Amino acid sequence: MNERCGVVAISSNKNVAQEIYVALTALQHRGQEAAGMAIYDEKLKLYRGLGLVGEAFRDFNLEEIKGKRGIGHVYYSIKMSTQENVQPILIHTSAGDMAIAHNGIITNSEKLKEELMEEGHNFSYGNEEEAVIYLLSDNLKERGIEKAVKAVMKKLQGSYSFTFMLKNRVFGLRDPLGIKPLCLGKIDGGHIIASESVAIDALGGEIIRDVEPGELVEITPEGYKSYKLVEEKHRAHCFFEYVYFARADSVIDGVEVYGVRERIGRILAREHPVEADFIVPIPDSGRAHAYGFSKESGIPLAEGLMKNRYIARTFILPTQSIREKLVRLKLNPVKGIVKGKRVVLIDDSIVRGTTMKKIVEMLRHHGAKEVHVRIGSPPIIAPCYFGIDMTTREQLMASGKSVKEIEAAIGADSLAYISIDGMVEAIGMEKEGLCLGCVTGEYPVKIEGEKYRFQESLERWEED
Ligand code: SF4
Repeated sequence: MNERCGVVAISSNKNVAQEIYVALTALQHRGQEAAGMAIYDEKLKLYRGLGLVGEAFRDFNLEEIKGKRGIGHVYYSIKMSTQENVQPILIHTSAGDMAIAHNGIITNSEKLKEELMEEGHNFSYGNEEEAVIYLLSDNLKERGIEKAVKAVMKKLQGSYSFTFMLKNRVFGLRDPLGIKPLCLGKIDGGHIIASESVAIDALGGEIIRDVEPGELVEITPEGYKSYKLVEEKHRAHCFFEYVYFARADSVIDGVEVYGVRERIGRILAREHPVEADFIVPIPDSGRAHAYGFSKESGIPLAEGLMKNRYIARTFILPTQSIREKLVRLKLNPVKGIVKGKRVVLIDDSIVRGTTMKKIVEMLRHHGAKEVHVRIGSPPIIAPCYFGIDMTTREQLMASGKSVKEIEAAIGADSLAYISIDGMVEAIGMEKEGLCLGCVTGEYPVKIEGEKYRFQESLERWEED
């Protein structure tokens, strides 16, 4: 499972290329396939490449890149990455040069592209971000930026945290439901907008606040301007940011991610207790959850699995068969900890189930007496349409299967997931303020063939 991207924007009284590089490196966990930046120096210029941040900018001397305003992006694609689909993208429009970087998915993008092509726009990148630029440039013919962005937002469905530039002006925009995170900070010499607060920390800055759902923020070296453009009745923050995607040291919508994961572990221990000798986290994703489970249960925590940090994340690898082989190379048990022991294995989620099955097999192979699996999210039963790499029900082990069936499929002595209510309690927000689409099958945005959460009575949704 993977997040689709991370975005950043900086406006400063100093050159920003190196600062954007640092911020993107802090956001590397959100996308490892490509990275790019657009910097304004008399005109907008693009610097982009494939690979991790260090590789992507290998051919550029960042010290020589001039420009005090810019945006950046780290990229993950379900398809193969090519230089063309790396972001930001830059388009010369009638309203001036525009560059945009996007975290999320516009669910009605095909329809929008068709309409724009009928109106005479020729797509050179062919992606949804290009459609957003054309919508914006068309609206800017008759309106100022505030009204133009508002008009564009009315057309967009789906999830989006954008950073974008209109000539030398720098903006951040968050979708009206706040599905994806976006925050605002102060750094030495200027201001920053980023997907996660760790990017602000990495630059020694201070978090000012989250960008509000439906809010457009323009940053300058001296300050920021806020335009509250769309006020939705509901919010729908992606709960998985707290469970897995975001870095544990980030603070999202006022809630520290590490604390949520620890609370999830504690609640999981209360909901599904088990007698065992050791709690073993799956590194690194299950670590904070395991710490909480250990604290609550009193069962000691042990690093029973070691991670090879030099192997690419399994989901980047192209086929299921290669993914399966590489699990053993990526994780290896510490025999002295698992041999003859009852082990509670903790992770944040089970998506395809391939990795979990292999790990349970490995622990048994190395002498574990019992292997109990505890999971820090409810079963993922439905796809995500908002930018996470789990797009079909066939990919999901829990879709159409009972917990007992999954337990048998992964070969565990017992398997239990945190409840939806338990997870919501750990996050500490109202249930109505979270997107729970992939664990309830009811979505905060209208998706053809799926249940729309806000159309159903809220009582019905709460009963799940
Ligand atoms: S469907 Fe799941 S992964 Fe996708 S945005 Fe909603 S909560 Fe997050």
